[in-house]
Amino acid sequence: MNMESRARGFFTEVYGGEPKVYRAPGRVNLIGEHTDYNDGYVLPTPIDRHVYVAAKPRSDDRFRVYAADFRESKEFPVGGTKLDPDRPWSNYVQGVVEALREEGHSLKGADMAVTGDVPLGAGLSSSAAMLMATLRALQDMNGLELDPVEAAYLGRRAENEFVGVQCGIMDHFVACLGEHGRALFIDCRTNEHRLIDMQPTHRVVIVNTMMRRELAGSAYNERREQCLEAVRIISKHDPEVKALRDVSPEMLVEQWDKLPAVIQQRARHVVTENQRVLDAVGLLEAGDAEGFGDLMYDSHESLRYDYEVSCEELDALVDATMDMDEVVGARMTGAGFGGCTVNLVEEGYVGEFTEKIKERYLRATAKQAEVYLA
Ligand code: ADP
Ligand code: MG
Repeated sequence: MNMESRARGFFTEVYGGEPKVYRAPGRVNLIGEHTDYNDGYVLPTPIDRHVYVAAKPRSDDRFRVYAADFRESKEFPVGGTKLDPDRPWSNYVQGVVEALREEGHSLKGADMAVTGDVPLGAGLSSSAAMLMATLRALQDMNGLELDPVEAAYLGRRAENEFVGVQCGIMDHFVACLGEHGRALFIDCRTNEHRLIDMQPTHRVVIVNTMMRRELAGSAYNERREQCLEAVRIISKHDPEVKALRDVSPEMLVEQWDKLPAVIQQRARHVVTENQRVLDAVGLLEAGDAEGFGDLMYDSHESLRYDYEVSCEELDALVDATMDMDEVVGARMTGAGFGGCTVNLVEEGYVGEFTEKIKERYLRATAKQAEVYLA
C-alpha cells in the first residue's frame, strides 16, 4: 500500500470519514555544509520521501491529531496550544496552528492523522516536512492564501519559537519551494534563491549510516562559536567582515597567521565550502556531473579533516565509493557525526550501487545501511 493510502487508512480507522491527504518532502543538501549559519550558500534538493497529513475540518474549534508512527494522540483547542514535552511530535502541529493564529488567520478545528517515510533525525529534515504538510492541510481547509516563501518563514517561526529548535530557513525553503529533479540554490544571508535543473544522466542517492547524531548538538554549538571567533579576529583587520561569508580564500591566506590553529581549520572549511557551492552551481548549469562530483569529494575531505564533524561510519560510506565507476561524487550531508551520505550515481546503476554499498558498509562496520532516492 502506498503512503498516501496508509495515511487515509489511519485517519478512517481512528476518526471515520474521508479525509484529504497533504504531503511535504524531506530534503538532502548536495553541497554547502555548515555554511548556513555563516551567512553562506547551500544547495539542497527534495527527496522522494514525505510526511503525510490526512485531515478533515471539524465544525468546532478542536484539533485531534493522531501520530500513526508513534501510536499517540493529542487534542487541543485552537486557542489553547501548549508545548507538550511528552509528545514532541505534537509541537510541530501546534506550532503551525499558533504561527497562523499570530498572523491573524482564524482557523477551524480539524481531525488529522500523520504518518511519513522520511527517517526521523537522520538529517533529512523530517521536521520541516512535518511542519509543511501540516501547513498545507491547514491552508487548504481554511482557504488561506500564503505564497510559498511566506509559508516557509511561517514554518521556520513555528520550529524556532514554538518547538524551540534554532534551525535556519533551508529546510522550510526546500519543503515549500523545492521541485523534484531540481536543486535549490539559497543565499543564506539574503535568502535569495534559484532553482537549477539537474541532469537526468545521474541520480542523487542517499545512504543512511543509521547512526544517531549523539555528539551533534554540543559539537554544533562549538563549531558555531569557533566561526564567530574567526570573524572577531579577521574583522579587527577588516571591519567589512561580518561573517565568514565575507572572507574570500585570498583574505584567509592574508589573515592566516593571526588565527589559532583550530580556528584556521574551521575557517578554511567554511571559506572553501562557500566557494565550492558557487563552483558547483556553475558546473550543474554546465551539465558537468563529473566536476560536480569532484567538489562533493572535496567537501567531504574538508568536513572530515578541517571541520572534524564526520565519523567512522560516514567515512566508510564515502571511502567505499572511491573505486566505483558509477559514482561521480559522495560526501557526508547534514550536521555530521552520523546521519547520511549523499551520492551522485550514474542513471541505470542505482540498483547495483545500492547492493554494493550496503554490502561494503556491512563488512566495514557490521551495520545495516538504508538507501533512499532523491
Ligand atoms: P530531522 O528533521 O533531521 O529528521 P528533527 O529532530 O529536527 O530531525 O525532527 C524530528 C522530529 O519531527 C521527530 O522527533 C518528530 O517529533 C517529528 N516528526 C517527523 N516525522 C514525523 C512523523 N512521520 N510523525 C510524527 N512526527 C514526526
Ligand atoms: Mg529537523
